[in-house]
Formats: sequence, structure tokens, C-alpha cells
Amino acid sequence: MPSLLEEVESILRHIVIDVLGYSEEVYEVLRVPERVLQVKIPVKTPDGRVRVFVGWRSQHNSALGPYKGGVRFHPSVTMDEVVALSIIMTWKNALVDLPYGGGKGGVRVDPRKLSKWELEQVARGYIRGIVEYIGPDRDIPAPDVNTDPQVMAWMMDEYYRLTGDNSFAVITGKPLELMGLKARIVATGYGVAIAAREAARRLWGGVEGRTVAIQGYGNVGYHTAKFLHEMGAKIVAVSDSRGGVYCPDGVDPEKAKSVKKKTGSVIDYDGDRCRKISNRELLELDVDILVPAAIENVITVENAPRIKARIVVEGANGPVTAEADKILARRGVVVVPDVLANAGGVIVSHIEWVCGRTGDRVGYEEALKKLEAKMVNAIDVVWQLWEAEFKPKNEPMRDAAYTIAVQKVLQAMKVRGWL
Ligand code: GLU
Repeated sequence: MPSLLEEVESILRHIVIDVLGYSEEVYEVLRVPERVLQVKIPVKTPDGRVRVFVGWRSQHNSALGPYKGGVRFHPSVTMDEVVALSIIMTWKNALVDLPYGGGKGGVRVDPRKLSKWELEQVARGYIRGIVEYIGPDRDIPAPDVNTDPQVMAWMMDEYYRLTGDNSFAVITGKPLELMGLKARIVATGYGVAIAAREAARRLWGGVEGRTVAIQGYGNVGYHTAKFLHEMGAKIVAVSDSRGGVYCPDGVDPEKAKSVKKKTGSVIDYDGDRCRKISNRELLELDVDILVPAAIENVITVENAPRIKARIVVEGANGPVTAEADKILARRGVVVVPDVLANAGGVIVSHIEWVCGRTGDRVGYEEALKKLEAKMVNAIDVVWQLWEAEFKPKNEPMRDAAYTIAVQKVLQAMKVRGWL
């Protein structure tokens, strides 16, 4: 199976050369990241042991502004994966019209195996490694898989200790005490729910009563479930890394959250007619809407022919492979791509960044309203281009999204004199 980086590069190549008609050189100029840092993070434990972790920060493109993107802590993250994710961030930020380029970070670590103290050392050590290359006008890290507001607080504080700049705008996704926004926590899931609602509105007139399966019950999966439930959809299946549960009469998102909190997994959820299912089964359920909100490469050429949902909304980054995307498009399945569907997080990060610079505060409702307006607008623009140019040829919505984003970045590169 191709890696996420190969996937992201092949889509970019297709858009730049086949769709937009540019040369191989232009593709190369867009593909190669501007800078990739590898850092060593040694952690000396109080009992005298030394452990070493490795992390990366990939700064893909800065034509539209400072690099922006999250940092994930994961035992299997690789440099290539971080580069791929930074490329995705470039298109995502461009698509929702943020004044940012694309960046991403990762540390190869299993945070569940660290004490709180060790986790803090990893967060601080990571910032020590990249401190010269980040800043409110350089590169602004944020949360991603397995990182949260507390980790962001340590990162911001380490930046302060090292540079003397007590900046609220160098990191987003911070706790409320450090000019973080309450809306940031729910933002990605809320945006995913809006993407699902907007797609459902176009297909069926609304999302009310539609059945939904969600893979992944972390911050994104849970909030997607919560908001879709509030919008009147029926969540019938949820899962996490240990497996899932299918309840034809509906899953209560709050109950699933408390079960996961208590037992460590949603598989212990019980209710009338509920049964345990595997992650594989969840993806192939006969539902209206499927939301893969866990990890990449879960819908591939192998299972794409068996996906029964009419709408797939990418809550995670890269869950549908490029080949699977084509198969789904030919089968009439609408895949709302990650660069559009999960942009809610970075949209609210931008509001937080602006607040961090000005000292102003934006309330929960206002932030979510802004998020909704930006998402609805971006979906409109992408959907229109997709219907006009790509859908008639059975080509994925991702192609339309990338076409818009790539053109925006190319324009900025041109006016800066890079091309
Ligand atoms: N990690 C999130 C993403 O993949 C958000 C990044 C941010 O807020 O900068 O879009």
C-alpha cells in the first residue's frame, strides 16, 4: 500500500499536471517542503534513566503566511508522514482562506506509556529543538493526535523561557487561562458535523434522521457525534482502537463518552439491540453517513467496493486512499475530503491566534458562528467546482478542493516572485 506521502504527492501531481496543465517543474516546486527539522528529545527521569525520543517539524509552504499545523504524539509516526500531513495543511489553510502556510509536527512516542512529568519533558524538549524556527509570524504549532491544551501550555511556556517572549500567539489550542478558546476543543468535530450536514442537505434535503457511523472516539469523533446528534442525525455506531459497537436504535454520544472514560473504550457500551463490531465492520455498515475520524489509510482499494454509506466525511487526515477515493467516486459515494471536512480546528486556531496578538477575547458562540460561516462558504465553493468540472467525469471532490487550494498557493508564490 502506498504511504500517505506517496498518496499526497500523487494527488498533487495529478492536479498540477493533468488538471491545471502546469509542468513537472511546477509540481516539484510545490511538492518539496521548504524545511524539515528532525530533533532529538532526551528525557532524563528522576530515577536516573535517560530516554531518547525523535520528533520532526515539517514546514511545507509559506507563500500564504506563517506555517500552521498541529503536533502529534504517536508511537508509529514517521518523518514522511509528518511531511505528508504538512502538505495537507497547506491546502487546508488555503482552502478556508486563512493567512497561513502549511506545517506539521510529530514526536515518535506513546504518550500512554509516559508519566505526566515525562510528557511535559517531551513537550518542552520538542520546543527546544525547533525554537528558532517557530513564532507568531513564523510557525504556529497546535494540537493534533494525542496532544491537548495542557501539552500546548507547556510548549508555549517553554518558548517563553527560551526566548523571553511571553507570546499568546505562538501556539494555539491552549488552555483558557492562556488565552485559549473554549470553542477550540469542539471546533474540529463541529466542523465535521457541518460538513456532513451540508452534504446531506444537498443529497437529501437535510441530515435529520440520517444514520451515522463514526470511527474513532477521540476529540474529533466524540464532538462530531455530539453535534450530529444535536442536529437530529442518528448515531448508530462508534468505535475506537479497541473496536466498536453497533446499536440500530441509536448510540447516545454522552453515554459512549462516559463509558470510554470509565473503561477505556466504547466497546463496553451496552443498550437495547447493541452488538460489538470490529473497526472493519463499522466501515462497511449500511448507514447513510460514514465518518472515519481515527487514522489514515483505513478505506483502501480492498474495502472501498463494500462501503455502503452514501456520504463519507473525512474527520481524520487521509483516511481514504487516493485509489479508494476514485472507486468511491465511480460508485457515486460523496467523499468530503479532509482538507475541507476537518478544517474547523485550524479555523478556530486562527481566531485564537488573532486574540493572542490583540489581547481581545472572542466568546464560544461567536467563534462557532465564524467557523460555520467559513466552512459553509468553503463547502459551497468546492461543491460548485466539483459539480461543474469533476463529478460529471466521476472524479472525487478532493480534486476540486486541491485545484482551488493549489491555485491560491501558486498565485501567492507568483506575486512573491518565487515562480
Ligand atoms: N491538527 C489540526 C489539523 O490537522 C489543527 C491544526 C491547527 O489548529 O493549527 O488541522
